Amino acid sequence: LSERLESAFKNLKGEARISELNIANTVKDIRRALIDADVNYKIAKEFTDKVKDKALGEKVLNAISPGQLMVKIVQDELAELMGGKEAEFSITGNPAVILIAGLQGSGKTTFTGKLANYLKTKKGKSPLVVAADIYRPAAIDQLTVLAEQIGVDIYAERDNNDAVAIAQNAIKEAKAKNKNVVIIDTAGRLAVDEVMMTEVANIKAAVGPTEILFVVDSMTGQDAVNTAKAFNERLDFSGVVLTKLDGDTRGGAALSIQYTVNKPIKFVSSGEKMETLDVFYPERMAQRILGMGDIASLVEKAQEQYDEEQARKLEKKIRKNQFDFQDFLDQLQQIKKMGNLKDLMGMIPGVGKAIKDVDISDDAFKGIEAMINSMTPFERSNPDEINPSRRQRIAKGAGKQLSEVNAFMKQFDQMRQMMKMMNKMPMGRMPGMMGK
Ligand code: GDP
Ligand code: MG
Repeated sequence: LSERLESAFKNLKGEARISELNIANTVKDIRRALIDADVNYKIAKEFTDKVKDKALGEKVLNAISPGQLMVKIVQDELAELMGGKEAEFSITGNPAVILIAGLQGSGKTTFTGKLANYLKTKKGKSPLVVAADIYRPAAIDQLTVLAEQIGVDIYAERDNNDAVAIAQNAIKEAKAKNKNVVIIDTAGRLAVDEVMMTEVANIKAAVGPTEILFVVDSMTGQDAVNTAKAFNERLDFSGVVLTKLDGDTRGGAALSIQYTVNKPIKFVSSGEKMETLDVFYPERMAQRILGMGDIASLVEKAQEQYDEEQARKLEKKIRKNQFDFQDFLDQLQQIKKMGNLKDLMGMIPGVGKAIKDVDISDDAFKGIEAMINSMTPFERSNPDEINPSRRQRIAKGAGKQLSEVNAFMKQFDQMRQMMKMMNKMPMGRMPGMMGK
């Protein structure tokens, strides 16, 4: 989905205004991309119509391009479609009772462990997890292992085949042991089926849960929507948990589910580690679906920090092929002012993933800064005059090897060659230069 959307926005690059004409293709591409990500056609159409209306009504500010504006609108609308802001999760009551429901394999038992761990470590609660899956002895073992791992008590009755009674007994136990949250893990079936639904509905009626969370595997696409519908009709659940949102699982399910059952997604979970549970933030999911990194905030940051006047001067120098070491140093300092280099780079679409495990420290700049600082003002503004003896002196002053200074000189020269070439191109612009 991400790639499709990125190419959809590419159409808008360089456009000065958002008009009926240049928006039509972008909107069509966005719609197709959403449909490809398992978003239902009707939802996708309604969504893109809304985006279109909004975009046409917007004035494009000088500072941002129409493409960036579209990204912002799409992102905002996506977030809105997924509930706008994060949903409440209630853990009041003594004990609070949380009922977990969903198909077999959706990740209920794993989530039960993660939620217990979250409530214990992040909310200071004392949870009791309950194994109410009476059909598979292995299910009890699985929850027992998880409970042990996170240091939470478990309630199970191996020889009782009445899930309702087990749930009720668990709540009595919780009261006796001063547990303030009870999380009931139930049995699921491979497909929606009457026995399962009746059982969960009966548990609900017997214990009056504070929250009923419907757990769904986000990798199941359109099926997830039908399952959510069936569960909601029977249980009227209070929230959705999206599991297996690992790697680059498509986010389409989140959109469709929210739209179809009109219940908030409350948690997202990825991986099998007990710590990987997250509260669901619509905005972040919108960004994930867009897969574009946090473009909007990158733009904001650049605007905040960059002096328009300075930008104009710099551009003039570049155009006249006068870009020198002092300008380069100023640029480095501008970038550093914007914050942590790695975070900053991570906001650039496509880069975040690539540099995830790379160590990029602001120190990378230090050597370059040291070299420029060791230059005289004359040298800074006359890069071509820096002869071998000057290089030797600069290397000494910066505590670098001569070879390092030579390498930097060479890179700088290549950069200037590139600028020269771009000046010759129509609309020659520096990619990556801010403030334009
Ligand atoms: P249940 O039948 O609904 O209780 O599902 P389980 O919790 O037993 O999970 C089914 C399988 O999916 C197990 O192998 C889990 O380890 C795995 N699983 C659960 N949640 C996640 C998740 O968020 N990411 C990944 N990658 N695997 C998960
Ligand atoms: Mg289970």
